[in-house]
Amino acid sequence: MNKLIIAGPCSAESRAQVLLAARAVKAAGAEIFRAGAWKPRTHPGGFQGIGEEALDWLAEAQETVGIEAATEVASAAHVRLCLEKGIRTLWIGARTTTNPFLVQEIADALKGEYARVLVKNPVNPDVDLWMGAAERFAASGVNDIILVHRGFSNDLEGRYRNDPKWHVILKVRERMPDLPLICDPSHIAGKRELVREIAQRAMDLGLDGLMIECHPNPEEALSDAAQQLTPSQLEKLLSGLVIRVPDSDDAAYRDRLEMLRSQIDSLDADIIDSLARRMEISRLIGALKRENGISIVQPARWGRVMQDAFERAEASGLDQDLVNRIFSLIHEASVKQQ
Ligand code: PEP
Ligand code: MN
Repeated sequence: MNKLIIAGPCSAESRAQVLLAARAVKAAGAEIFRAGAWKPRTHPGGFQGIGEEALDWLAEAQETVGIEAATEVASAAHVRLCLEKGIRTLWIGARTTTNPFLVQEIADALKGEYARVLVKNPVNPDVDLWMGAAERFAASGVNDIILVHRGFSNDLEGRYRNDPKWHVILKVRERMPDLPLICDPSHIAGKRELVREIAQRAMDLGLDGLMIECHPNPEEALSDAAQQLTPSQLEKLLSGLVIRVPDSDDAAYRDRLEMLRSQIDSLDADIIDSLARRMEISRLIGALKRENGISIVQPARWGRVMQDAFERAEASGLDQDLVNRIFSLIHEASVKQQ
């Protein structure tokens, strides 16, 4: 499989757990072993990680198991300790990526050092903040930078712990085409039963790899117990992944694809024509309201428009969120016209 696979427990908990997990993920096909030495916890009082001592266990795993080890760093002091112990694959957690001061401090600590840096997305869907963090490492001379998609915080109780917002990821791909982009389905899913579907989706979208949490005994894990896989679940997930090829020259496939694409092109043209006509009418309504001294925004009318759109969307099996986003943009543009 031509994908970068990183796996290991959320946290390094004991020497035995680290060595057992490192062996297990290597056997399941992982190339890099992950385990957090310092854990950023939302609430105080939770398990904050073992800290420095865990780095010795990671270094031992590199030596005796023969797998590269990675851990999270959130300060220059963390970086120095890791480099001292020979841990050179470091990830920047989602909470740290939001803070350019910290990112800069970490990047400065890496100047002149060989390191591989995995930059997780910030908790909020801010592509520039994410890109900016990667740029700070590049400017420090780090030339092995990998982006990690771990989903975005969400105030709504959704299916997943963190909203994958795949459209944001496609935008990142477009803006940073040269940086490898992998997915952390564990922190998106939040529950082990949902890790596989996210991992497969990431592969279907052509992402370059996966970082998956795997613990020898997930039920007993000191952090993120609900989302970690057992080694055998990890092995099953990895061996069951369907990896698509980027393209094919098969004539039947090509013909059918061209046919479907020409239908899409013609529908896209219809959408643009309809939008232009809609804006024209919007301008006429604007003029009419102006002549009659009527205010531009009429919430009750807009509520009915959205309601109709939702009902139509539902009847056609369309995603409500998609319709909501498109219509909100149309409304915004319409108001501007008036
Ligand atoms: C982690 O990888 O264990 C972690 C804390 O991740 P994130 O920064 O994505 O929440
Ligand atoms: Mn975790």
